[in-house]
Amino acid sequence: MRNIDLIHEVTRIAAGQWPFVLAGLNIDVPDSPRKHTSCPACGGKDRFRFDDNGRGSHICGQCGAGDGLDLIQKVNNCDTTLAARLAADVLGIDYQATETDPTTASLRRKWLGAEQQQRKQECQKQAVEDAKQRRDMFVRLYSGIRQQAVQGESDYLRSKGLGGFTFPILTDGSILLPLVDESGAVVAAQTITPQGEKRLVSGSAKRGAYHTVNTPEQSQEVIIAEGLATALSVHLMRPDALTVCAIDAGNLLPVAEAMRRSHPILQIIIAADNDYHDDSQPNIGKIAAEKAALSVAGWVALPPTEEKTDWNDYHQQKN
Ligand SMILES: [Zn+2]
Repeated sequence: MRNIDLIHEVTRIAAGQWPFVLAGLNIDVPDSPRKHTSCPACGGKDRFRFDDNGRGSHICGQCGAGDGLDLIQKVNNCDTTLAARLAADVLGIDYQATETDPTTASLRRKWLGAEQQQRKQECQKQAVEDAKQRRDMFVRLYSGIRQQAVQGESDYLRSKGLGGFTFPILTDGSILLPLVDESGAVVAAQTITPQGEKRLVSGSAKRGAYHTVNTPEQSQEVIIAEGLATALSVHLMRPDALTVCAIDAGNLLPVAEAMRRSHPILQIIIAADNDYHDDSQPNIGKIAAEKAALSVAGWVALPPTEEKTDWNDYHQQKN
């Protein structure tokens, strides 16, 4: 696929789904156009707004306005083509399919002159350095915050009918939820305020990282849920299963793949959020869960309702 075609294709398919695409790339944007937050590209405190308007529109007091692809570029310091490829990966657009065609491939090599190749390499090298810097920043920040946390119950979980679970609690009452990678190292962390506002600790490498809710000695199943409250509710319903939370819809697929690698023969069930809408908006929770389940030959369990519901809502209604 030509770069320009890929950009058009991504823009067309991503329309109306930018929060999902950005979440899949670890780019956190506020869920309301009225919220002012720190900018995912240049930081700050409240200089950033995300209007979306179906195109990923955003405005930052420092680095300016743009659409979803612009934001991916700014966050990753890369060009439009690489940004489109990153978005294509999340959306499952197979842009490499045509490159196996020898004619296209040879044409492509001609288009990609030496200069462009070099720029691409520099961009990749820069990305590796940025990742290392981000990791170092995270480790410093996390260990600092972790020292201040005290194990206890949280008002957030109690308000969700989930008393009795303890987590590291920060001085403002927020949960500090560590997320590990496949080696077991803490590579990301989420804070959840008593009011339920969730935020990633800066520098978090969320993609594929997860929080394990329980460690059963023997289990037939791995259950993957999006958020912590949902995962704990599922755990109460199915205490024998190994249950993990993936934080959000965009992270279900990489976490499912990690679980499949570490548990080759267990059944994997994605406990999906039912992001049901009355209008024609996509059911992001269901779509992401189905995609994750498909890639690991797993199953989807969706709360059986015709309204927006997750398994924690369901659990609370039935108790
Ligand atoms: Zn900015």
